[in-house]
Amino acid sequence: MITRRTAVQQISLASAALAFGGAMAQAQTEAPAPAFKLPPLGYDYDALEPHIDAETMKIHHDKHHAAYVAKLNAALAKAPDLGSKSIEDILTSLVSTPEGIREDLRNHGGGHFNHTLFWSTLKKAEGSGPEGDLLKAIDKQFASFAKWQESFSDTAMKVFGSGWVWLVARGSKLSIEPTPNQDSPLTTGGTPLLGIDVWEHAYYLKYQNRRADYVKAFQNVIDWEVVGANYKKAIG
Ligand code: MN
Repeated sequence: MITRRTAVQQISLASAALAFGGAMAQAQTEAPAPAFKLPPLGYDYDALEPHIDAETMKIHHDKHHAAYVAKLNAALAKAPDLGSKSIEDILTSLVSTPEGIREDLRNHGGGHFNHTLFWSTLKKAEGSGPEGDLLKAIDKQFASFAKWQESFSDTAMKVFGSGWVWLVARGSKLSIEPTPNQDSPLTTGGTPLLGIDVWEHAYYLKYQNRRADYVKAFQNVIDWEVVGANYKKAIG
């Protein structure tokens, strides 16, 4: 904890250090910065072509996701106590966060978490599908993978306005759930395994008003290995 006295001591130390080198002074006076950073995409912008175009990926990651991170950090600057929490913890216990910044955490914290999950589950993988335990669970819950695809796409078409559709694990049970805006299934006790972003910024450059084409193309860029690993982790 930085008291007034230690702060004064640090400033004197820093002033002394300035005589020896700026870097040392900086290390001693800088407050810990809010933790969240824009994670790298992990692949090239054009890795998902032709299903999701490079220009969309670049703007979506470098501008939209970056803005969520910046606004999340701006909100957290008003609540230093939350500084050490993970984004998952913040969204899971959103109801107990300070009221003055709760809406910012919901929107921008949700935006950061949702997009981080989104990038991690994308890969050009035409014709692939779930395997192992996840496939068994999908077959049990939705009758078949083909039926799951149909239901997931239908739900994505029905989202009115901006939002997401998720494959969620609640215990070992799977469900397809839409959320508005940047709301996360974490906040209602679910574990999102995979999500499709149906905000217009996710597809408008290439598909304009043809959301159905984007939703169909999305089935070709799901990294089922990652989704399977997310399911394994969710059920422990
Ligand atoms: Mn988005």
